[in-house]
Amino acid sequence: MFPRVILNGTLIKKSQQKKIISPENYKERFFVLDTKELKYSERRPGKKPVLKGSIDLGKVKCVEIVTTDLNIPCHYKYPFQVFYDNNYLYIFAPDNNCRQQWVTALKEETQYNDLATTYHPSMWMEGKWRCCQQTDRHTIGCVPYDPGRLASKKAPPPVPNRESQTKQDDTDMRTIIAIQDYTPTDGGDLPIQKDQTYILIDDSHFDWWMVQDFDGNKGYVPSTYVAGKLETDFNRFEWYNDNITSEDAAGLLSKDGKEGAFMVRKSSKAGHYTVSVYSKAPGAKADRNPNVRHYLIRQKKESESSFYVAENKLFRTIPELIHYHQHDSAGMVTRLRHPVSHDRRFSMPINDYSEGQWQLDPLELTLEETLGSGQFGLVMGGKWRDKKVAVKMIKEGSMPEEEFKEEAKVMMKLSHCKLVQLYGVCTQRSPMCLVFEFMEKGALLDYLKAKRGHLSKETLLGMCLDVCEGMNYLENSNFIHRDLAARNCLVSQDGNVKVSDFGMARFLLDNEYTSSQGSKFPIRWSAPEVIRYGKYSIKSDIWSFGVLVWEVYSEGRLPYEKRDNMQVVDSVNRGQRLQKPPLAPEDVHVLMQWCWKEKPDDRPIFGQLLHQLASLSDL
Ligand code: ADP
Repeated sequence: MFPRVILNGTLIKKSQQKKIISPENYKERFFVLDTKELKYSERRPGKKPVLKGSIDLGKVKCVEIVTTDLNIPCHYKYPFQVFYDNNYLYIFAPDNNCRQQWVTALKEETQYNDLATTYHPSMWMEGKWRCCQQTDRHTIGCVPYDPGRLASKKAPPPVPNRESQTKQDDTDMRTIIAIQDYTPTDGGDLPIQKDQTYILIDDSHFDWWMVQDFDGNKGYVPSTYVAGKLETDFNRFEWYNDNITSEDAAGLLSKDGKEGAFMVRKSSKAGHYTVSVYSKAPGAKADRNPNVRHYLIRQKKESESSFYVAENKLFRTIPELIHYHQHDSAGMVTRLRHPVSHDRRFSMPINDYSEGQWQLDPLELTLEETLGSGQFGLVMGGKWRDKKVAVKMIKEGSMPEEEFKEEAKVMMKLSHCKLVQLYGVCTQRSPMCLVFEFMEKGALLDYLKAKRGHLSKETLLGMCLDVCEGMNYLENSNFIHRDLAARNCLVSQDGNVKVSDFGMARFLLDNEYTSSQGSKFPIRWSAPEVIRYGKYSIKSDIWSFGVLVWEVYSEGRLPYEKRDNMQVVDSVNRGQRLQKPPLAPEDVHVLMQWCWKEKPDDRPIFGQLLHQLASLSDL
């Protein structure tokens, strides 16, 4: 039975300093926990990961969070430890939830080991234990280790019967077929042949998968060269768009007017997929977009090769079908020539920005039209490496540039489908400019006003959910927005709302905006503790989120419309709150009021709001 992957993700690892002279350093590594090992590797954009180390779970004696009074010298601030053999591995997670997940999973997997009875709650540093000050690295721990602090106890190790029962399912899940031949380019790769079957060993890396042939040889292959028979996740393929309507697909495919532009998307028929193709040869005139055809991928029951578009061409997997039709139209209006994706993954590896990559090359950036103007200056549309982007030209004197450059590295690592991605900073130009994901439909506030009277209640709720998802990610990343409002969210081509400008308020040098006495200070969105003492927290973001929900359901009206700033502060201090907008359902109003509790501790967190909003959208 092959090991099952339990958790994976990017964490920071401290060097283990097994030898006294080895240096102390902190490196970002991609960790994978499976049922056998904890492995970590270095990811290099566009190249195969390099395995840097692994720990046999059987040797683990203790897993616990690390408590420390020290200033942690890397940007992930939540340490935990894995004690194995006689070594300590210190790992840093980006937030507490993430750390808890890893510690709980590791504890669960090692709970039947021969565990330590004591451990050191703090770190070994500069020749002594920070917790007990002892100077012998191998001295036994100074506090009892309680491995029983688990979220849920799982059953004892599997009995043989259960294992053999799952084995067949597991093998089916892991059987993959080569779509194309692959000839290795270096030692760690495995040659594969089109139509041959292989076993998938490790799919934790997005673009390179470890597979095994039936002679037992293992190696990496590009993940897009193989497909699983029972597979439903096609996100690694350039042609797949997970979440797009047929109308938006047609719009995207027609945009460049390229013959054979195509994509695969989920069909409105549950569990099915559709291929949408653009061709200059028009179809039925009655269609909204006669140049785009939609072909349902059908499936024959009880047949090994069952997927088809043209009935005489059957395939075992959808990627095989697409690969075939990329070379032969076989019944379609044209062959599938140009994959189209509205996703930015394929030109920019997410979360893989190593040192130096936050600086963009000015030669790769061209500026085009003006999109608007904001606190920092002009915002221009442009192209970065052939990709449409929005470029904020930072007006001289509006930002402490050196300070911001440091923060930009942190902000670039924040990557979520409901956050407007910062791609990088171009410092070699004057003025300095920040390059962001382009959002076709502009600011949410303008969008709400422009569409007043035409947005359904489902759309309004969906907008609030989008923002809440983005904010939930920031909350889990311990990042405070400080200026959440409809004007600081943007709308994408397909109507998704994303949170923008997170953390940027700290870098604005305009006193009129940053001082609560200033004429531009966002009083109407600010929690009472922010106005009184400048105390920002995720709970002050929650207050602002309540106001944003109000803006959405008021279709872009100004909160406390008829009052000036002084009157707003006065009325909030007296306990008055914004009225329910006529379009808001009572449940949504209750949620807003929860965000506007006087005491920050009485307000919810985004995780709770997300749950509430998601349950409202199910109704
Ligand atoms: P600032 O952060 O300098 O205050 P804003 O974020 O308010 O600037 O941007 C000003 C305007 O520029 C917005 O109202 C919007 O119309 C446009 N804009 C900003 N960012 C983008 C983007 N990523 N994609 C498309 N348009 C944008």
